[in-house]
Amino acid sequence: MAKKDKDYYQILGVKKDAKADEIKKSYRKLARKFHPDVNPNDKAAEEKFKEVQEAYDVLSDDKKRKVFDRFGYYNDNLDPDAPFASGAAAGGGPSGFDFSGFSWEPGSTSSGSSSFRDIFSDLFGGGGAGARHEPEPPRPLPKRGRDIEIPLALSFEEAFKGLTTNITVNRSEQCSRCQGAGDTGGPVITCPSCSGTGQVLKSGGRLQFSQTCPDCEGTGRRRTPCSQCNGKGVTPKTEQVKVRIPAGVDTGSRVRVPKKGHGGRLGAEPGDLFIVTNVGKHPFLERKGDNVYVTVPVTVPEAALGARIEVPTVEGKAQLKIPSGTESGQKFRLRERGFPSLRNPSLRGDQFVEVKITLPRVVSEETKEVLRQFEKLNSENPRKVMGLE
Ligand SMILES: [Zn+2]
Ligand SMILES: [Zn+2]
Repeated sequence: MAKKDKDYYQILGVKKDAKADEIKKSYRKLARKFHPDVNPNDKAAEEKFKEVQEAYDVLSDDKKRKVFDRFGYYNDNLDPDAPFASGAAAGGGPSGFDFSGFSWEPGSTSSGSSSFRDIFSDLFGGGGAGARHEPEPPRPLPKRGRDIEIPLALSFEEAFKGLTTNITVNRSEQCSRCQGAGDTGGPVITCPSCSGTGQVLKSGGRLQFSQTCPDCEGTGRRRTPCSQCNGKGVTPKTEQVKVRIPAGVDTGSRVRVPKKGHGGRLGAEPGDLFIVTNVGKHPFLERKGDNVYVTVPVTVPEAALGARIEVPTVEGKAQLKIPSGTESGQKFRLRERGFPSLRNPSLRGDQFVEVKITLPRVVSEETKEVLRQFEKLNSENPRKVMGLE
C-alpha cells in the first residue's frame, strides 16, 4: 500500500518540472550508486535500487508521468485524461482499489529511448547480447528431475531371497500451480535468492563458495516467484514407495525405481529412485560375486576314511561326501548352491567348501594309547620327501 505514497520526483532527487534529460542523468547516478553489483548483499541498497528503477520507469515515460502527476501514484489501469473518480482525492487512490498488484515491470516498458536496456548498456559498457542485465529473464526450459539415491541395509539371507518393502522417500513433484516454471508470468523483479547479484553462497563443509544462482540462472532477475513453490518449480512430497529388491543383490547394487526421483519441470520426466543395497555378513559363509565360500573342519578319521558330512549353505544344511584320503585344504564344489545371478535369474553361483583337518583332541589316557598304537602301525614320516628324519 505504501507504494501509492511514493514521491518519484523526490526519489530521483529532481524537481516536478524536471526535463527528461535531468531525470535520466539523476537516475543513472543513483542506479550506479545502489546497483547490487556495487553493494553485494546489501538489502537496503537493493530496496533503494528497486525504488529508483520504479521511479525512473514512470517518470521517463511521458504517459506514465502524466498519470503520476495527476493521481500522485501510477497504475497501468489509470487514464491520465479520465475525469476524477469520486473519492479519488489528489495523492490518494480510489477507496477499495487493490494496490498489491502494482509492480514495476521493465519488460513492459516500451518507450524506446528510455528503455532499461539502453541505460544499462551505457552504464556498464558493452551491453548487447550476453550482458547480465537483460530486461527479459531467461525463459525456464523443461528439465528432467534429479535422481535420488537411498541406501538400504539387507541381511545375507534377504539378499539371497530378494525382498519387497516400503521406503519413505523425500522427493518432490512438479508444482501444480506453475507447472514447474517457477513463476506464473508475473512482473520481473530482482531475484530474491541472490539479491540480483546472480551468485549465491554455498557451503561445503566449513568452506563457502559462490555459485551461479539457480533461480535466475545468474542473470539476477526473474519473474515474481510462484507462491506455491517459492519459484523452485517443484514442491516437496514425502512418499511411501514400494520397492522390489531382486534376489541376488550385493553390497553396492543399485536397484532402479523409475520416476520416483525428484519431479521434473514444465512437463519433463521425474528422475529415478535408486536403492543402493548394503548386504550384511554371514557368520560362516563368505560371498564373492555369485559364489559362496566356506571352510569346514573335518576329523582325521573322516578325512582318512571318507565320510558324508553336513555343511552350511545360505539355504540351510546340505550334504557333502568327502572321499577317503582327503587332504586338509582340499576344496569341493556344490553346484548351484550360490546366489542367483542378478543379470540372469535362472543362473546360480556355486558354493565352494574347503575342508580343514582338525587335530584329534586327547580326552583320556585311552585316546593317548590309541594314538601311540596308530603311530606304531603307521610309521610313515611325512618329512621324508625333504630328506629329513
Ligand atoms: Zn510453482
Ligand atoms: Zn538469482
